[in-house]
Amino acid sequence: MRKKDLLSLTPMDIEEFLAGMGEKRFRGKQIFQWINKGIKDFDKMTNLSKPLREKLKDYAYITNIEIKEKLVSNIDGTTKYLFLLDDYNIIEGVVMKYHHGLTACISTQVGCAMGCTFCASTLKGLVRNLRAGEMADQILTMQKDMGERISNIVLMGSGEPLNNFHETIKFIKIINDEDGLNIGNRHITLSTSGLVPQIKALADLQIPINLAVSLHAPNDALRKQTMPIAKKYSIKELIESCKYYIDRTNRRVSFEYALIRGINDDEAHARELSDLLKGMLCYVNLIPVNTVEGKEYKKPNIGDTGKFQQILRGSGIEATIRREMGADINAACGQLRRKYLQKQ
Ligand code: SAH
Repeated sequence: MRKKDLLSLTPMDIEEFLAGMGEKRFRGKQIFQWINKGIKDFDKMTNLSKPLREKLKDYAYITNIEIKEKLVSNIDGTTKYLFLLDDYNIIEGVVMKYHHGLTACISTQVGCAMGCTFCASTLKGLVRNLRAGEMADQILTMQKDMGERISNIVLMGSGEPLNNFHETIKFIKIINDEDGLNIGNRHITLSTSGLVPQIKALADLQIPINLAVSLHAPNDALRKQTMPIAKKYSIKELIESCKYYIDRTNRRVSFEYALIRGINDDEAHARELSDLLKGMLCYVNLIPVNTVEGKEYKKPNIGDTGKFQQILRGSGIEATIRREMGADINAACGQLRRKYLQKQ
């Protein structure tokens, strides 16, 4: 029998697992509590009997990712981690300090299959999906290292979370649980490149997390130039799925728009985007593109970013310019892993 990763299980899953071994279900909650406190050693679970602990060692394990490298920004304290997984794959996570507390940005896959031309995570494509426990352990490990509670989670590291749907949903349920990290849906943001059927499926699950959609262009022709997924789903279909999400969850959707000089950052693009989103329960996050080694995209001039924002606001669309965090430590997604892989 293959050992089970208990960190990838909800309390109910652990109960099922125990019942399957002829053990008492109520132990599930106790085990879940230990694991989600970051305890990795069954012998430290002192309210379990010795025989049960031994049995668990035989049939189960607890994901344990290791910090391989850590970089702290001198500018804003943003901390970037490179993690080593048990199969020697490398992923990264980031903790950002905001006045309302710590926000962790985590990866959902090793690499990514989406192939967006501006993104550092696409190097070498998708290696594999992460298990729910590997997502949760990024939080547990960073929280332990920071010595402070992480209160907000963004799924904006490497990977396409909706391409790893099942494990991502399980992960959300695990961190939601009040016996675990107890992070509410309103404190979780999932960012997607725009997988239309999965956005609808997520809406139907009625887990009202914040949905962020990577749009990056106001029309299909332009979007296809930087995001291969645009060849599969049109912006029209994408916007419809977002409206469905809003209807089902009553949540506002945010659109990410990485401004790339000379590509998608002029006033006509801003007006086209305004027309597209007018009247929708949404807001736009403008991100001056992060430059990635080996790719020639440039940030827009500061004035152009402000102008872009003004045009959106003029149409009644809320738009913010995302502050760059950890600029001195390659904190943008995929960059550290990319450096690491290139070195090897
Ligand atoms: N796959 C998901 C989540 C991971 S990326 C998605 O596509 O949304 C998180 C966000 O960072 C996405 O909006 C992505 O488009 C954006 N991003 C990637 N590379 C970037 C870069 N070089 N500059 C600015 N934003 C970038």
